[in-house]
Amino acid sequence: MRVLVVEDEKKIAGFLQRGLEEEGHRVTVAGDVAGGRLALESGAYDLVLVDRMLPDGDGLDLVRALRRRKDQTPAICLTARDRVEERVAGLQGGADDYLVKPFAFDELLARMDAVTRRVRGADVLEVGDLRVDVGARRVTRAGADIRLTAREFDLLRYLAEHKGRVLGRTRLLEAVWETTHDPGTNTVDVYISYLRSKVDKGFGRPLLHTIRGVGYVLEDRPR
Ligand code: CA
Repeated sequence: MRVLVVEDEKKIAGFLQRGLEEEGHRVTVAGDVAGGRLALESGAYDLVLVDRMLPDGDGLDLVRALRRRKDQTPAICLTARDRVEERVAGLQGGADDYLVKPFAFDELLARMDAVTRRVRGADVLEVGDLRVDVGARRVTRAGADIRLTAREFDLLRYLAEHKGRVLGRTRLLEAVWETTHDPGTNTVDVYISYLRSKVDKGFGRPLLHTIRGVGYVLEDRPR
């Protein structure tokens, strides 16, 4: 997973980064709210760990901003303030869980597992009459089965998870191909055209839209 850690205490941030990287995750660390915001704007993450007490504010604001954008990226709050009202505020702010410092690394891993499973639990993503069953890796449109390659599925799934949001090529490359360097020539555009021919062609209105100069969006737009 790609994990964003927003934590100003260097010792804790370093410990999280080392531990998570040993577990095979890719970790980006930001030390304040501004840095966290920048990271979220420029990259795609599967999970966000945010400290509540940052030098320039409350890390929970980052989670609130995500949820306002209908971004359901799983988020876990790290807090030293073990008070009931803090927990309630965290969960109301859109965090999926919280951990009270100090915590055992194993507990963090267990919470990360639970939270990502819960968020993926929705498991069927719908955009108009398109259904993406993430668990079964099955796609249908208007009830008809659509066969996709693994990469096409991953791309469609990512677009469906962020439906209504314009996603740039770099972000798609990062999320689906796990690279920032285009492995081919216009890889993303080529795969979008594959998807179009399978998902949109022959079905009433298109769901995959090109935003010129910016990227792509999967969205059911009323005519
Ligand atoms: Ca702190």
